[in-house]
Amino acid sequence: MLDYFKFEQKLTDEQRMLISTVRAFASKEIAPLIADCYRREEFPTAIIKRMGQLGLLGTNLAIGGKSALLDQTSYGLVMRELERIDSGVRSFASVQGALVMYPLHAYGNAEQQRWLPKLQSGEAVGCFALTEQHGGSDPENMQTRATVTADGHYELDGTKTWITNGNIADIAIVWAKLDDEVRGFLVPCESKGLLRKKISNKLSLRASITSELVFQKVKVPRQNILPNAIGMRAALSCLTQARYGIAWGVVGAAEACFVEALDFVKNRLMFGETLAAKQLVQRKLAMLATKITTAQLLALRLGELKDSDALQFTQVSMAKQSNVATALAVARTCRDMLGAYGITDEYQTMRHMCNLETVSTYEGTSDIHLLVIGHDLTGVAAYGK
Ligand code: FAD
Repeated sequence: MLDYFKFEQKLTDEQRMLISTVRAFASKEIAPLIADCYRREEFPTAIIKRMGQLGLLGTNLAIGGKSALLDQTSYGLVMRELERIDSGVRSFASVQGALVMYPLHAYGNAEQQRWLPKLQSGEAVGCFALTEQHGGSDPENMQTRATVTADGHYELDGTKTWITNGNIADIAIVWAKLDDEVRGFLVPCESKGLLRKKISNKLSLRASITSELVFQKVKVPRQNILPNAIGMRAALSCLTQARYGIAWGVVGAAEACFVEALDFVKNRLMFGETLAAKQLVQRKLAMLATKITTAQLLALRLGELKDSDALQFTQVSMAKQSNVATALAVARTCRDMLGAYGITDEYQTMRHMCNLETVSTYEGTSDIHLLVIGHDLTGVAAYGK
């Protein structure tokens, strides 16, 4: 494994043990399934409860008065191991932990928080429905509406799209406008009037379920509004949690591509010697190793800041944007180094490369994160210009 600046030496013994436990689980129980799931556009649902048993779902949250099982750096290390296998697997864990458990934990009432143990064990699955067709980058411009009915319920109308886990979820955290204010609602997925359609024929993140959710007069009880999730800020705070995991996760995808390409060039003979003996190939390897090392150190520092409760969302934007761009660039170069073999699914690099196109778009596109950083640096918001 590439660890040029010995960043794992900065970890605790427990964190190093966690890496080897999750790596062993992921390579033994997920890796053998993933290429086939990717071909069939299926999520390997059999691993959900296993992830729960191993404490990989939302265990950086303090639930039920107990302290969190994992510190934030450890949680990041878990994301790195899951995305080493596939971004779709890490996406599942990110949605479950950061986008469903986190809002219930941070903004929910005691009744809503009764879902947390089931979500943590993988007995229940959640999804997060914010994006709509007319533009994910400007979610405040949402059309989905909540109204109060005569019998004291909320009624939801609208359409959400690109929703990870949509078709396999038991509950959805749905963001809708109530009197022009964005609010979060806990919606059971079996609710009458909620139609879930799987989005097929994706060329990226194929081992992850993505859905459209149509709400037609979906009635939810008054107690299903998240009492403390008021305004767009609440939805964005959940995305900050998920983006933190992404900044860590993509390091695993980049490392997996690098290891595969390095092994390939060491063994591939060309013009009478291995590709690894060529100056141009060594230059590529050196550049990739430098990029990955920089991403590892950025993730580690991000974890330190989150562990000391000093993390700013703008820092998360910078790390998400930078580490995803790094991972995508690494995957593209590794794909090239594998030649024709690199376009088959016998090798994992192209799958990672295609996945990372989604990771670059979701949870705030690269452009949007650069605008967030620009806003922070200049004090001028340029999103609408
Ligand atoms: P747009 O917002 O239409 O952007 C298109 C292009 O315009 C991008 O390049 C963007 O950077 C650029 N752009 C936008 N605004 C500006 C600007 N002001 N200045 C310059 N350029 C700009 N959403 C959920 O709510 N829940 C989920 O679980 C979820 N899962 C997803 C899973 C997958 C596989 C995918 C692909 C998406 C998922 N999303 C989810 C949606 C995702 O968050 C959005 O796709 C993302 O926010 C971008 O929105 P958009 O696709 O509408 O692109």
